[in-house]
Amino acid sequence: MTFYDNGVNFECQRCGNCCTCSGYVFIFQKDLDLILEKTNYTMEELEQRYLSKMDDYVVLRDQANGACIFWDDIIKGCKIYQARPTQCSTFPFWNAVLSDEESWENNKDFCPGVGKGKHYTFEEIEELRKKI
Ligand code: SF4
Ligand code: SF4
Repeated sequence: MTFYDNGVNFECQRCGNCCTCSGYVFIFQKDLDLILEKTNYTMEELEQRYLSKMDDYVVLRDQANGACIFWDDIIKGCKIYQARPTQCSTFPFWNAVLSDEESWENNKDFCPGVGKGKHYTFEEIEELRKKI
């Protein structure tokens, strides 16, 4: 039994908090494959300008102001939205956020999309949660 047995609502409000806060965006092979398939970036460009290493992991670089390298401050959106990494496309349906209702509710301070808009069923939430 979970607090989201009957589903929850979430719809991104494009506030940009999750793209401009500090923290790593981890990149896995499936993420790279998607970026290469859906954008015009080459692997060489990605390695030279957009990717970095953190221990054994590949992560996205930050801009000087700490925002994600793919955050566009003019359009207030992600430059690779259609190919955004799994970590981004599954937020806020992460284990840590879904651990209990309090955690989900507390996340509203950071993510104004929590509790709004589209209804996600238990099954849809579980599918997203297991992707990351
Ligand atoms: S914090 Fe939430 S509402 Fe804001 S951009 Fe990220 S997903 Fe969208
Ligand atoms: S890749 Fe896009 S969606 Fe993910 S943190 Fe960066 S700007 Fe945001």
